[in-house]
Amino acid sequence: MSITLPKLPYNNDALAPYISSSTLDFHHGKHHNTYVTNVNKLIEGTELANDTLEDIIKKTVNNADKIGIFNNAAQVWNHTFYWQSMQPNGGGLATGNIAEKINANFGSYDRFVEQFKNAGLTQFGSGWAWLVLKNNQLEIIKTANADTPIAHGITPLLTVDVWEHAYYLDYQNGRGGYLDAFFQHLINWEFANANLLESQG
Ligand code: MN
Repeated sequence: MSITLPKLPYNNDALAPYISSSTLDFHHGKHHNTYVTNVNKLIEGTELANDTLEDIIKKTVNNADKIGIFNNAAQVWNHTFYWQSMQPNGGGLATGNIAEKINANFGSYDRFVEQFKNAGLTQFGSGWAWLVLKNNQLEIIKTANADTPIAHGITPLLTVDVWEHAYYLDYQNGRGGYLDAFFQHLINWEFANANLLESQG
């Protein structure tokens, strides 16, 4: 089997003006697609050729000889999860079961936003900020470059890409403005709730 590029879960202009169609054209059509092409080239003819994306990630993490495969596979997975973490007319106060858990674990929605934004802002260079579930508690973490919670047995609920390619066309160097738009207008709370429910299955 080979790894395929999933379609975006919305039209490429559906997140405008917060994320433009040009950003999504490049980010999904070029960046995400390149990770897919690269991982397929790198696993071809190897013992990983028939593995799922998740298995490729788990089998190559912390292996210096396979860092190229890990980076490309993890970036494929992270981007697919990121597209789903957003929706048109999303963002704002959390809904559903996760809203109660946010209040219980962070104190308030505002404290949650503050911690999540801070993680995104302080990820030096390229990486990701995540809402994750660890020991049944919500936590905010950040990962560098391609690193991903699923490589470390941690359950992600939401993510935001803080690589410059995610926001440069729309916000130039203003990562904070991009993160504000993510919280206020883009988060897909139904996706976060579905991930929470599945992890408690
Ligand atoms: Mn990206």
